[in-house]
Amino acid sequence: MGFAREAGDVLRLSELKLPLDHPPEAVEAAILKRLRISPSQLISYRLVKRSVDARRHERIQFIYSVDVVVSGEDALLKRHARNPKIRKAPDTNYYPVAKAPSDFPKAGIERPVVVGAGPCGYFAALLLAQMGFRPLLLERGQSVKKRTAETFGFWRGKQPFNPESNVQFGEGGAGTFSDGKLYSQVSDPEHYGRKVLEELVASGANPEILALQRPHIGTFKLATVVRGMRAKIEELGGEIRFETRVVELLLRQDLDNSGSGKPLQVEGLRLANGSTISSRHVVLALGHSARDSFAMLETIGVKLEAKPFSVGLRIEHPQSLIDRARWGSMAGHPQLGHAEYKLVHHARNGRCVYSFCMCPGGVVVGATSQTDCVVTNGMSQHTRNERNANSALVVNLEQEDLRGFERWPGDPLAGVALQRDLEQRAFQLGGGGYCAPVQRQEDFLAGRPSTALGEVKPSYLPGIKLVDLNQALPAPLIEAIKEALPVFARRLSGYEHPDAVLTGVETRTSSPVRIPRDDCLESLNTRGLIPAGEGAGYAGGILSAGIDGIRAAEALAQQLVVAHSSA
Ligand SMILES: Cc1cc2nc3c(=O)[nH]c(=O)nc-3n(C[C@H](O)[C@H](O)[C@H](O)COP(=O)(O)OP(=O)(O)OC[C@H]3O[C@@H](n4cnc5c(N)ncnc54)[C@H](O)[C@@H]3O)c2cc1C
Repeated sequence: MGFAREAGDVLRLSELKLPLDHPPEAVEAAILKRLRISPSQLISYRLVKRSVDARRHERIQFIYSVDVVVSGEDALLKRHARNPKIRKAPDTNYYPVAKAPSDFPKAGIERPVVVGAGPCGYFAALLLAQMGFRPLLLERGQSVKKRTAETFGFWRGKQPFNPESNVQFGEGGAGTFSDGKLYSQVSDPEHYGRKVLEELVASGANPEILALQRPHIGTFKLATVVRGMRAKIEELGGEIRFETRVVELLLRQDLDNSGSGKPLQVEGLRLANGSTISSRHVVLALGHSARDSFAMLETIGVKLEAKPFSVGLRIEHPQSLIDRARWGSMAGHPQLGHAEYKLVHHARNGRCVYSFCMCPGGVVVGATSQTDCVVTNGMSQHTRNERNANSALVVNLEQEDLRGFERWPGDPLAGVALQRDLEQRAFQLGGGGYCAPVQRQEDFLAGRPSTALGEVKPSYLPGIKLVDLNQALPAPLIEAIKEALPVFARRLSGYEHPDAVLTGVETRTSSPVRIPRDDCLESLNTRGLIPAGEGAGYAGGILSAGIDGIRAAEALAQQLVVAHSSA
């Protein structure tokens, strides 16, 4: 049944419960039953969310939300006024906030520049292009095809590590080689998340992501989607330059403050090849790993703040064990796919230990962007059919952990120094050569180095070394993880598997820095600069980075229209 809608004429039905093996027509039957209408009254419907209720293993079921177009919707709303599961559907269409004037210049100081081709930068550039502003997008890493060859070459030990082209840097940004999970807990009253998902589908993602509660794309599909987005931006007159690292923002002291109260104004950017680009309107979507860029921003006086973040270790179990723990005897059911988990424990020493970026049926990958460092992260293909489930177990850092890394109290870059120290320590523990330090869970809990692996084989590439990970993190974090593991085993049966492997270190969970901004999303002290996405401290994943990219584009577009009219 096709879906025909006019804004405002759609009803949303939530919590339609159906068994796992229901036939497709059961959804329509459930709609008719809920609304108490005849088939002729139902014009069309579409799924807006499908989640799994696995609270009772013997009765796992799907829960649907659907948008329906019916005749006589006002009367139906009145009839079901007391039923909170039947209401008017929100309007999730996207409406642009600005349009470029017809004489908007193609080049020069007015042209907007976006730095960073991750999800934030790509969505900022796409939206600016859709509004007619023909942005210039600059990315330090390579296009996704070259980057994929280089990164996989490094993991397979066939290519040397390249600090400019790796898991963190290059077209598509940090999440390109990932599980591609597309959910977020950020507040999204404007429904920009829907716009992000719709654009991903328009660029080649599977339309199922529009309706699943916990959609994911997977590594190779993500690379295709990224190429699709690039083509769209270029079609709309945008320009993208790879292998183009911004080494300096060119700022002018704005002595009269132009009424803004901000002492600095962006005038352009200097690139690694020595050339410069003029622009008074820059979105800075650097991601959390652009350490050299954070240092540059500090040097030139852009306001930065330290931001709390977490670090930890990655843990791998057999995926079949996690499926059994979550789905019981229904594990392996073709409609369920592989199970995920989310675990949290508040330790006695005040630290919070939680699972992060869980990848069902995936692998652990080397995710450093710096020479002689080891960093873990996880990725899966769309099928999620690797043997192991992996997840980071991370712990929040406290002020005491930063002692020794601060150049002065409140040093905004202390977290970066701590991350680097842990990553270099992991590199040494792994024996150099980018192998990661690994330990069996049982040995970790007993505080003795592992000397042999058991049933669970670590998947980390390019390789591993068996060690004692008790030295890999500050003592309070190790203590908290050791307390959490048995607690997690009580919640997820089998989690205590002695051969489960821990791999160190997971340090790039979120940005250690915030580039604070005002209500117009502009830097607090630099006019024309819109810091955005994860690197600026305003996103924590692909979807939220995309949403922030849209917000950044809107803020900049409004600025561009005003600047152009007064030029
Ligand atoms: C292995 C891995 C798996 C992940 N899995 C998931 C997942 O499943 N789901 C999820 O939601 N999130 C996941 N994430 C996190 C997610 O990727 C990030 O939250 C997201 O990419 C942040 O988007 P961003 O655009 O803000 O920054 P980024 O994606 O980091 O993009 C920043 C871009 O800026 C470029 N850049 C930096 N400095 C400069 C400069 N000076 N000049 C020019 N360009 C520059 C970088 O090369 C990079 O391409 C994963 C991350 C990794 C590393």
